Amino acid sequence: MKSKLILTAFLSVSLMACAQETPKVKHKSKTAVSKQNVKTVKFANAVDPICHMPTEPDMKDTAVYKNKTYGFCSAYCKDEFKKNPEKYVKN
Ligand SMILES: [Zn+2]
Repeated sequence: MKSKLILTAFLSVSLMACAQETPKVKHKSKTAVSKQNVKTVKFANAVDPICHMPTEPDMKDTAVYKNKTYGFCSAYCKDEFKKNPEKYVKN
């Protein structure tokens, strides 16, 4: 929620900057946004789907499934998820 607001604000600033400057600036700022997204990894799951424990942003056991990053409390939960991700991810 919070980061979405920050991102919206950032994009607004970028758009204003683009209106005043050349289109080249837009490309440059787009790259910067991508780098920020990599640093602030947010998990697609609010809770560990295996043990139902709430996920923490600093969890080290993660798995990427369908372009989404999932966090797990332990390697055990991560392995269980990887065995059958479709069982745990419902869209
Ligand atoms: Zn777990």
